[in-house]
Amino acid sequence: MSSKEIDTKNEIANSFVLEINAAAQEVIIADGERSFPDECCGFFFGKEGEERRIITHALEVVNNKEGDKRRRFEIHPSDYMKAEKFSLVNELDFLGVYHSHPNHPAIPSEHDRIVALPFFSYIIISVYEGKLADFRSYRLNEERQFEEEEVVLENKSKTI
Ligand SMILES: [Zn+2]
Repeated sequence: MSSKEIDTKNEIANSFVLEINAAAQEVIIADGERSFPDECCGFFFGKEGEERRIITHALEVVNNKEGDKRRRFEIHPSDYMKAEKFSLVNELDFLGVYHSHPNHPAIPSEHDRIVALPFFSYIIISVYEGKLADFRSYRLNEERQFEEEEVVLENKSKTI
């Protein structure tokens, strides 16, 4: 059992579950490791269930932040429009945004919370020295505070 599985069981009481298939998982992790020491960012898609989201597709997006990209990411509005189109064409639900925290824990910053949209899941991966260290996800509750979701990765060998 990985440390991640222990963590999620201990810390997350009820809330939501985010199931991520191997292909989407690979896109997100590879983007985070390749973009190091900058923050990477992108979108993910799948199917919305009752209390479970199944993520089947992830798309990398250019970090549009001007200047230092090691502590911030920005996504251009036109990329959000492309994501909407992608979800329509492929009959998928547009379910959230991922980004990385280079050499920092996978905990949302206050800035992450302020710019977050309701409904979306926010995956944050922690990448230390170019290697994945943690993979977590959060969703805003009605008080606009982040609640951690339980992450279930299909490919358990390619985690931490
Ligand atoms: Zn962040």
